[in-house]
Amino acid sequence: MTKTPPSIIALDGPAASGKSTVGRKLADALGYLFFDTGVMYRAVTWIALDEKINVNDEVAVTRIVQTTDIDIRPPSQNDGRACDLLVGERDITWDVRSSAVDANVSAVSAYVGVRAALTEQQRRIGLRGKVVMVGRDIGTVVLPEADLKIYMDASAEERARRRYKETVARGAEADYDEILKKMIERDRIDSTRAVAPLRPADDALILDTDSLTEEQVFSRILEFCR
Ligand code: C5P
Repeated sequence: MTKTPPSIIALDGPAASGKSTVGRKLADALGYLFFDTGVMYRAVTWIALDEKINVNDEVAVTRIVQTTDIDIRPPSQNDGRACDLLVGERDITWDVRSSAVDANVSAVSAYVGVRAALTEQQRRIGLRGKVVMVGRDIGTVVLPEADLKIYMDASAEERARRRYKETVARGAEADYDEILKKMIERDRIDSTRAVAPLRPADDALILDTDSLTEEQVFSRILEFCR
């Protein structure tokens, strides 16, 4: 590692491209903050579902970000979580990983008002530096001034296989075909939305992880940091 690794690191890519795992590892290695922005969109979606708000009602969903206190804190439990995700006093860290949230989060994250509010919070935190921020639009919209931008990709089949394994390892039920179908649909909505679509920044380094192990991905990313 050089004496001064990049301070603001943006890690973007589609669902289950491995960015959270490697981002977390990188943040640990550098002593940086790891910030997975996807949890914020997931929290808004979870609140909408919990309060029986129609996710297609843009006005009602946007009101959630203006009226609800969503907090991210250091992990209070050693159960694989990167952080605690709280709504008021309620811990929703694992609730936001449900298939209902998966199925609705892309609709929610396409809303201009939702993105504006969350982007502003993410940017404020990111600009403090010493951060690995993970998402879909970090290099393009949230932190275009990032010192290092990486776009991680892999085929939908490989990503679905990884998500299937993760889900089964957590003891939850999983159906590979269903995961693949839903993942392709989520990627489609994320990459075709009008605001901040999923795409690599022009100056991002592209890393195709299809045939790489987790360790190989990590060492490639360390090389990028040098
Ligand atoms: O990364 P994760 O799969 O947890 O993200 C959930 C969803 O949140 C994505 O499918 C996308 O719709 C949205 N998202 C986004 N912009 C980000 C991070 C996530 O639109 N920066």
